[in-house]
Amino acid sequence: MTIFTHQFDTDLYKGSVTLNTDLFINNEWVTPIEGNHFEVINPSTGVRITDISLGTSKDVDVAVSAARKSFKTSWGLNVTPSFRANCLLKLADIISHNIDAIAAIETLDVGTPFTMTKYFMIPGAVETLKYYAGLAGKTHGHTKETNPLKFGYTRREPHGVVAAITPWNSPLPIAIAKIAPALITGNTVVLKPSEFTPLSALLFASFISEAGFPPGVINIVNGLGEVVGTALSHHPDINFISFTGSSRVGRLIAKASAESNLKKVALELGGKSPNVIFADVEDDLDEVLTWSERGIFALSGQMCSAGSRIFVQEQIYDKFVQKFTEIAEKRIVGDPFNPATVQGPAAYKGHLDRVIGYIDAGIKEGAKLVTGGKALDKDGYFVQPTIFTEVAPEMSLFRDESFGPIAAIIKFKTEEEVIQLANDTSYGLVGALFTKDLNRAIRVSNAIDAGTIFVNCFNWIETPLPWTGYKQSGWGSENGEEVLEHYMQVKSVHINLGLKVA
Ligand code: NAD
Repeated sequence: MTIFTHQFDTDLYKGSVTLNTDLFINNEWVTPIEGNHFEVINPSTGVRITDISLGTSKDVDVAVSAARKSFKTSWGLNVTPSFRANCLLKLADIISHNIDAIAAIETLDVGTPFTMTKYFMIPGAVETLKYYAGLAGKTHGHTKETNPLKFGYTRREPHGVVAAITPWNSPLPIAIAKIAPALITGNTVVLKPSEFTPLSALLFASFISEAGFPPGVINIVNGLGEVVGTALSHHPDINFISFTGSSRVGRLIAKASAESNLKKVALELGGKSPNVIFADVEDDLDEVLTWSERGIFALSGQMCSAGSRIFVQEQIYDKFVQKFTEIAEKRIVGDPFNPATVQGPAAYKGHLDRVIGYIDAGIKEGAKLVTGGKALDKDGYFVQPTIFTEVAPEMSLFRDESFGPIAAIIKFKTEEEVIQLANDTSYGLVGALFTKDLNRAIRVSNAIDAGTIFVNCFNWIETPLPWTGYKQSGWGSENGEEVLEHYMQVKSVHINLGLKVA
């Protein structure tokens, strides 16, 4: 058993958090069969926090067989929907009671300001658990009118074992967005968190037995993407993969599924979201600036939905650029446990380098750097909020997801022109627009090719509304009742009313 304790002594949280760094299989902590480790680094300081155990394909086999066994015996359709719901509700309660500790561990590991993890992100994950608990028993099949000599009906059944593979930017909320609907529909789960931010999942694991989940229902195998992620995506006994991450890895997972057992795959991938600001909002520009700031700079730009291409109509363009620059320059970037901080670091060194690489490419390609553009001259992986103008559609600043605090502000004249520019991307996750003209709001919302449209707001995400990737932003959805369809398959039953041969 490998126990790690971290002592927090910050303005926002004082206390200690203890967690087990091994793998969690069958409601037990187990050391990996081949005994590998990975260093977890604090992105705010660059200093090692702890080592975690890393699994391999052998541990994946053990976890999948535990999940299969519990699916067949103690979960799945062997228990009532209310039993499943009670486990989810108990888990939500335990997380709520431990919210400071979970938020603190997430902040330590990812660098997200504690004020965000504590007041928004972890409470949001609790809401997700409760929302899906409330949908237990509400999924159903239909009876169908068929041949009069027959009784025909459909029933919804879980797939079986679901693998959840998650990224590093919002570890626990994304894991729960997969686990909750998978479990409520009767599947069992093997979760593989990102190797860069594995700690909150380990603390979460320590609540699973107490919440009443039978052994094997939720298993957590930390590991490298190329090792554990690959083993899961090729595994012949996994029925469904819910993946959130880059489009590059999404493609590998789809390919692995095709080459193995054709397991079903849901992919939540990247984005290059347009934020379109029409001149008629000039009188309320301060609100629009605040939403736009959240749209691109929250979580240091490490959001799939980041509004990284800001299109501003020409009449208010100069004013917007000037005010947005002032906002960017005032942002307090630094220690995520400082109450004044609004922006933490990039989550790991390799990502910092990637973000700086996008800034350098923007400068080289001829975009105009208005503010920011550098890593902070201090320990940790901090990047200045950065704004570019004079960004053309062929530039990487327009096309590539930087996943950093980099905004490109682009001038436009007409609605037709901006719709064309907004859709000039291979991604289709989110679009936003600001206008006071209701007809235009509806027209442009319909015209933007994205699964989520924010009108007069940005990143105001709610669990009941599905989150869908259009184009290369993914396959399928997260959130909402709609996602339950992914986690179930439909069976048609044809009953001959007698044995008579038709
Ligand atoms: P990533 O694709 O590098 O990694 C995601 C997960 O996949 C990690 O757990 C990783 O270990 C694993 N992985 C890596 N290689 C693998 C392989 N060959 N086979 C199977 N699994 C493998 O993504 P990331 O850098 O962790 O996250 C950032 C990306 O996630 C961005 O592109 C972002 O847009 C996307 N994202 C999307 C959403 C959404 O809802 N659409 C939400 C958050 C993040």
